[in-house]
Amino acid sequence: MQPGHNLKFWTPGGSSTPLLTAEHLDVPLDFEGVAAAGSILGTTATQIFSDQDCPVYATYRWLEFYHHESCGKCTPCREGNYWMVRVYRRILAGQGTHEDLDTLLDTCDNILGRSFCGLGDGATSSVTSSLTYFKQDYLDYIEGRTAPKLSDKQLVGAH
Ligand code: SF4
Repeated sequence: MQPGHNLKFWTPGGSSTPLLTAEHLDVPLDFEGVAAAGSILGTTATQIFSDQDCPVYATYRWLEFYHHESCGKCTPCREGNYWMVRVYRRILAGQGTHEDLDTLLDTCDNILGRSFCGLGDGATSSVTSSLTYFKQDYLDYIEGRTAPKLSDKQLVGAH
């Protein structure tokens, strides 16, 4: 890491693979090792994030990608990503609720394994894993301990 940064989270294989943390640095980067840690190798495009990065915001930006790239063929991916992006915007604008976290997990449950191609499944990885490891970061937005990253204007202007 750069001086002054500590590793907070990383993806072993890109945004479609569940996040891992500093506790997983000794995980062997092979299929079995990563699977045993609860993730997958994916594209092996490792992405590294420091403690100055926000897992909630990173997940939101990934979801924007999946929402944009969804071809719309099947309902779970098309609608699920559409709505999850909106929930993230609400949370990041300081207007989220505790129920939003259940909504995100429920939506992922309805996308994973129910989408026609891997894009739908991949979209859920960062959501469920970030909620597993970094739920407190979500609660800090919802309960007002972290300043909003998105403005009301960005929320209203969302499409
Ligand atoms: S899962 Fe694949 S086929 Fe279905 S809407 Fe998403 S991108 Fe299209």
